[in-house]
Amino acid sequence: MKAAEETHDIVIIGGGICGLATALALHRKGIKSLVLERSDELRATGGAISVYMNGWHALDQLGVGEELRSKAILIKEIKDSWLFKEEVNTTPSRKAGLRCLKRSDLVETLAATLPAESIRFSCRIVATEIDPITSFPIIHASDGLIIKAKILVGCDGSNSVVAKKLGLKAPKISPICEARGFTNYPNGHSFGDQFLRLWGHNFLLGRAPINDKLVFWFVDHKFNQRDIEAREDPTLIRDLTSQRLEGSPEEVIDMIKNCEINSLTLTRIRYRAPWHILFGKMQKGTTTLAGDSFHVMDPSIGQGGSAAIEDAVVLARCLAGELQHHQVADSGELKKRAEAAIAKYVRERMLRIMSLSTRAFLIGSMSATSSWVKRMIFCVLLVLLSGNNSLSHAQFDCGHL
Ligand SMILES: Cc1cc2nc3c(=O)[nH]c(=O)nc-3n(C[C@H](O)[C@H](O)[C@H](O)COP(=O)(O)OP(=O)(O)OC[C@H]3O[C@@H](n4cnc5c(N)ncnc54)[C@H](O)[C@@H]3O)c2cc1C
Repeated sequence: MKAAEETHDIVIIGGGICGLATALALHRKGIKSLVLERSDELRATGGAISVYMNGWHALDQLGVGEELRSKAILIKEIKDSWLFKEEVNTTPSRKAGLRCLKRSDLVETLAATLPAESIRFSCRIVATEIDPITSFPIIHASDGLIIKAKILVGCDGSNSVVAKKLGLKAPKISPICEARGFTNYPNGHSFGDQFLRLWGHNFLLGRAPINDKLVFWFVDHKFNQRDIEAREDPTLIRDLTSQRLEGSPEEVIDMIKNCEINSLTLTRIRYRAPWHILFGKMQKGTTTLAGDSFHVMDPSIGQGGSAAIEDAVVLARCLAGELQHHQVADSGELKKRAEAAIAKYVRERMLRIMSLSTRAFLIGSMSATSSWVKRMIFCVLLVLLSGNNSLSHAQFDCGHL
C-alpha cells in the first residue's frame, strides 16, 4: 500500500515556543503554515522563563505582548546574595523590562492566537530529505505519513532532526543541571518585585515572583548519580534540592519544601558552542532552523526563549518580504525567493545569536569550572564582550514584523 502523502507550503517541525511563535508571525503576515508537534497536547513543562525587554519587543510584534504582560509582574530589582560572604548586591532592573512568565501562559496564548488547524499534535517526525526532482523538502512522520513542503523550518529543540540533517553537531551537555518549580503562597508572599540570586558553595538559587502569590524558583548544581533517579521522581527532586540548600535562609528552604510537587522538573543543561553556530550550516535550500535547534544556549542569561521569538519575527519578516508582494511565476521562482529570504534571515540572526550564545557560554563555563584561573579568563572575556552593562543584550530590538 502506498504511504499517505500531503503537500503544504510552509511546514514547521516542533510546537514549542519557537514553532508556535513562527507560525503566529507568519499568520500575522497572512502566510499559512502547519506546525507538526510530536506530543499529544501543548507542552508547557519547565515552569517559567525570564523575559527581558528584547523578548517583549518580539512578543509585541506578534500582538500578544500586552496580554502576557498582565500575567507576570515587572521585576524591579535583582538582588545577588552570597552564603559564604557578607555581601549583598542589588541592581535595578526596571529598564530591562524583566518579567518571569509561566511557560504555560506563553505557549497557550501563542497557540490560542493561531487558527485551530495550524497545529497538528501526535505527529513525530523521524526524517527529512530533499526531493531529488523538485529540490524541495520531504518530511517523514513516524506513522508513515509523507509531507511535501516548499519551506521547512526546524523548531524541534535541542535534539533536532532537522539540525542533524543539516550536519550540525549534537549540542554539548554541561555538567550543570537545574531543578525548577513553583511555590504558591495562598496569603501572598513577601518577596515584592525582586529577583533573588543566592550563591552557595555548590549551587545557585534563583527566585522570581510571577504574581503576588506565585513564585518561580530554580536551583543550578553539578549533576550527580542521584539526579538520574530524581529526574523521574518529583518528591526526590524536592528532597535533594532542600538538602542541597542547607545553611540558606529559612524562607528559602521553606519555599522548596512547600513547592507544588507536580511543577518540579530536573533538566540537564545543553548548549551549542558559539564556534559550532558560527561555522554551522543553518540553511540548505528552503530548509532552515529557529530557536533551540539553531542555538540552544546555557540558561544563565535567560535568553533562549526570547531569542527563539526574535528568530520567529525576523524569519517571517524575511519570508514575507520575498514572497508576499511579488508575482511568483512558478516553483523555480518560489524556490529562488524562499532561499534568498532564508539566507537573509540567517545572516541577520547570526551576529545577534553569536553575541548571546557567547555570553551564555562564558557565564555557563564560569559556573561549571572549579579552576580559578579559568574563571578569571572567562570573566575578563565577558567584561570585554559586555562592557559595564551586563544587561545590554536585553535592550535589543529585533524590529518590526
Ligand atoms: C533549565 C532551563 C532554563 C531556561 N530558562 C530560560 C529563561 O529563563 N528565559 C529564556 O528565555 N529561556 C530559557 N530557557 C531556554 C528556553 O526554554 C528555550 O530556549 C526555548 O524553550 C526554546 O524553544 P524551542 O521551541 O526552540 O524548543 P523547545 O521548547 O524544546 O520545543 C521543541 C518542540 O519540538 C517538539 N519536537 C521535538 N522533536 C520533534 C520531532 N521529531 N517531531 C515533532 N515534534 C518534535 C518538542 O516536543 C517540543 O514541543 C531555559 C532552558 C532551560 C533548559
